[in-house]
Amino acid sequence: MPNIVNEVKLDFKDVLLRPKRSTLRSRNDVDLYREITFKNSKQTYKGVPVMASNMDTIGTFEMAKVLSKHGLFTTMHKYYTTEEWIKFAEENPDCLKNIAASSGTGKGDFERLSEILKAVTGVNFICLDVANGYSQHFVEYLRQVRAAFPTHTIIAGNVVTGEMVEELILSGADIIKVGIGPGSVCTTRIKTGVGYPQLSAVIECADAAHGLKGHIIADGGCTCPGDVAKAFGAGADFVMAGGMFAGHEQCAGELIERDGKKYKMFYGMSSSVAMEKHSGGVAEYRSSEGKSVEVPFKGDVEVTVKDILGGLRSACTYVGAACLRELPRRATFIRCTQQVNNIYS
Ligand code: 5GP
Repeated sequence: MPNIVNEVKLDFKDVLLRPKRSTLRSRNDVDLYREITFKNSKQTYKGVPVMASNMDTIGTFEMAKVLSKHGLFTTMHKYYTTEEWIKFAEENPDCLKNIAASSGTGKGDFERLSEILKAVTGVNFICLDVANGYSQHFVEYLRQVRAAFPTHTIIAGNVVTGEMVEELILSGADIIKVGIGPGSVCTTRIKTGVGYPQLSAVIECADAAHGLKGHIIADGGCTCPGDVAKAFGAGADFVMAGGMFAGHEQCAGELIERDGKKYKMFYGMSSSVAMEKHSGGVAEYRSSEGKSVEVPFKGDVEVTVKDILGGLRSACTYVGAACLRELPRRATFIRCTQQVNNIYS
């Protein structure tokens, strides 16, 4: 008989952060930097733990140059060649501490990752990213990468439940990427019926990870700076976004001009557009689990970065958190039926 979990699981849209008495005088007093020492790599990271997704339109070298200036992190997409990596590393040595090289579990992925990490010293993060982090094949791949790179910080995912967070950490991962189906250009929930409301996934996975001294990334589903604040409040150590960083100068993807307006193409990594580009089409046995959209052109991503960081500082002052690390301890979520007044939207 199928099981039904009757407890309500929540998304960002279902809650608001309750304001709390605070002694902070100004948003300027809030420290958004976090220093984290990772369980398995033993490396220490210091930065603003907001990440650009490793999607091929978002995780670009151009994005990393701007984000790194503000202390933010970029997980690079896995399609750059070793030569492109070498050139970037030579020209931008300061960015290297704030980027990760990505890999899937496909044919040749391990060799490609190894070649890049051998050619470019100073990149200390590896992002192992698959749509379904529950497969035994993925766990074995993670173990292989951990054995080959004992002191690199390994990000692995995606999963949404505590038991798989634990399994991945015990198999060598330092940071677990959490999120199945919340993404802006993801259609997994429509195509498969599978998923987990993202706020609850983050709360539960953070609890599991922190119990083992591991860390998590809330990946996907943030539509505005307020959602990023909620993800940190829920216990995320890092928050990753794709859609919020889409549509900018620093993004890859076609720039479209129509009726005097500019748009930038943005698509899911499992969309037919991405599969055409990287795998020569959608395989016979599967359907695409992503869509493509035209995002109104937003100019320089620096404006969006400042918007996110400003929102985060403000959220911290509202709840009385002097630094980002304190946010989950100060967070009380209120369940709500309406978040915003839509009269002028
Ligand atoms: P967003 O910030 O746009 O809401 O979510 C970004 C995340 O969506 C990515 O980091 C990745 O985990 C996920 N994602 C990207 N492309 C696809 C896709 O085609 N299908 C699915 N299911 N998820 C995707």
